[in-house]
Amino acid sequence: MLDASSTTLTLLGASGSIGQSCLDVVRQHLDTFRIQALVGGANLQRLVQDALEFRPACVALADDSQGQALETALAGQGIEVLVGAQGVLEACTRPNDICVSAITGFAGLEPTLTALGHTKRLALANKESLVCGGSLLMQAARAAGVEVLPVDSEHSAIFQALHQQPRAALRSIVLTASGGPFRTWEQEAIQAAQREQALAHPNWDMGAKVTVDSASLMNKALEFIEALYLFDLEPEDIEVVVHPQSIVHSMVQFHDGSYLAQLGAPDMRSPIAYALTYPQRAALNVAPLDLVTLGSLSFEAPRHEAFPLLKLAEQAWRAGPSAMIAFNALNEVAVSAFLGRKILFGAIAQVVVEGMQRCESAAITSLAHIQHADKSARQLAEALIPR
Ligand code: MG
Repeated sequence: MLDASSTTLTLLGASGSIGQSCLDVVRQHLDTFRIQALVGGANLQRLVQDALEFRPACVALADDSQGQALETALAGQGIEVLVGAQGVLEACTRPNDICVSAITGFAGLEPTLTALGHTKRLALANKESLVCGGSLLMQAARAAGVEVLPVDSEHSAIFQALHQQPRAALRSIVLTASGGPFRTWEQEAIQAAQREQALAHPNWDMGAKVTVDSASLMNKALEFIEALYLFDLEPEDIEVVVHPQSIVHSMVQFHDGSYLAQLGAPDMRSPIAYALTYPQRAALNVAPLDLVTLGSLSFEAPRHEAFPLLKLAEQAWRAGPSAMIAFNALNEVAVSAFLGRKILFGAIAQVVVEGMQRCESAAITSLAHIQHADKSARQLAEALIPR
């Protein structure tokens, strides 16, 4: 149980979408939370602005080319400044009560693992660290006595709906997906879609990478694996259902046939606040649901032929850790090429599907193994990107 009067937070990925939502939750509860460390990627201006507002003991910026500028901007403020990949890891070793892991992509894994030895609670938004290092991360958390709480809205919904029921009471979970901007598009149009179209998410305002993943349903594929680790499930325990309104954030089915769902506006501040204040609930200034205006909630099956990445999650899980690492790495490289306008939307799935057929299986028992498998898959992906 956390001491609510002086809970210290370390925020990894402070300048991203989740990081900024987290800071807004903290802003609404300044009497409860104090920022210990702010860790950013490359957005110097944002990090400086947040550091001056929240007065953390320490800030770290991954991009070392801006290190001098960060030092200059925070000179005389009494804030420790750390720079580069090593600086990020060092910031993770500053003791804190809750570490919010919200770096995007595989880059979040090592800082998250490092943070486990120095925190009491991991509020996990970085799904890629579970997909690529799920066994290692969950074992390390257990060994360190750190509780892992989901920040991802779907997993937060499941966690809330489970409400401390024993695992044995659970029959299945229903993971909801918005379907993204291409939910109703013809397959050919999806293949030819470009950056702006993929970034126009109907419900959620998120970072570019996760928004593209939502459009391809890769985000749901990653969340599928995330749920397997977080809730100790098998693939047959999870049903993915498209729910275009993004109001039901997911649900659980118990053995007595009862379903419990968690509903709310699509606002990441709610699941973030829950992960920070659990088992309490803090008041939060978010818009209430207007159910009458909404009128109805609808559900439909995912279109697997148009969005082939979703089904690949189960295959990757069954093939083992190196396949899941490759699955993620292939997608990260392809999404980056897509965001850089080098490929059309359809090529993302092509790179991942083809890469999964070619990648080699390897034993994974350490972070070094994970990093090696990730690197190999990235090289494979680069070779598969159409020129
Ligand atoms: Mg989610």
